[in-house]
Amino acid sequence: MKLLDGRVVSQAVKDRLKTQTEERLIQGKKVPHLAAILIGNNGASETYVASKVKSCAEVGFKSTLIRLDGSVTEQDLLFKLGELNEDFDIDGILVQLPLPKHISEEKVIEAICASKDVDGFHPESVGRMVQGLPAFYPATPYGILLLLEHYGIETKGKHAVVIGRSNIVGRPISIMLSKNEYPGNCTVTVCHSHTTGLKEICLQGDIIIAALGRPEFLKADMVKEGAVIVDVGITRVPDATKKSGFTIKGDVDFDAVFPKCSYITPVPGGVGPMTIAALMMNTFKACKAKD
Ligand code: NAD
Repeated sequence: MKLLDGRVVSQAVKDRLKTQTEERLIQGKKVPHLAAILIGNNGASETYVASKVKSCAEVGFKSTLIRLDGSVTEQDLLFKLGELNEDFDIDGILVQLPLPKHISEEKVIEAICASKDVDGFHPESVGRMVQGLPAFYPATPYGILLLLEHYGIETKGKHAVVIGRSNIVGRPISIMLSKNEYPGNCTVTVCHSHTTGLKEICLQGDIIIAALGRPEFLKADMVKEGAVIVDVGITRVPDATKKSGFTIKGDVDFDAVFPKCSYITPVPGGVGPMTIAALMMNTFKACKAKD
């Protein structure tokens, strides 16, 4: 059994990006610049955005953090996005989700210029990804691919079971793993809240991607011997023994599944850091496209 260590791999990705950014500077080229919009005071969102801004500094990118009050109108947010779209120096734009209820996620995602859509959520990015055209891949599935690639995990002909079909994780990773390239060429089964016989399906999985947001959902008796387990889940579970008042739990019952599988991602320290590394990759790519 081996850990798929997202901290180590994301550091390797960031080290490479740092070198490439330094090379750009020497060549007199522009440095990648990410703009992040954070709305309201959601604790988890604050943490995610802070990590993204910190990672930009680590790799030598510029970043601009735009904090907007939770009561900001949809119109004002769309206006801000219009300004960022027009700003040549900004290469990538991300709006941290979830948004306040009075703002349409769909409208906001579509308002981001596709060439700056480093989160890969814009319908144009998704369409290009589905058709196998060069595209910004959504950061979390892209991070998973980088992780599988780093450890040289064989994917060709394997049965990948994806639990969850959200637009940001389940659906895109299922498409990416079925593509005719490495890492891919899997036979993919997508499971969701209406799937029947989930346990039997999981038992057939050579690779299981758990992305449903239910702490410790995937138990040892749902996993076949030697499977590769990728745990995407991040849930804050109340924990009075912790100073923060909560513990982070993944979607996999890690301690029980660990001895059965060949590879597994820890939570935290697995997919989470890879998501940020993938975002940095996309931002670099967006900048390079302007050369
Ligand atoms: P979501 O709520 O949008 O989607 C959950 C999916 O799981 C749905 O498609 C639903 O049909 C399915 N589902 C729910 N209950 C199920 C059940 N009992 N059996 C089978 N399927 C079931 O969630 P999301 O945005 O895709 O996020 C999933 C988890 O991944 C969350 O814990 C989230 O915090 C985490 N996440 C982590 C990262 C990261 O960087 N590590 C990034 C994004 C999301």
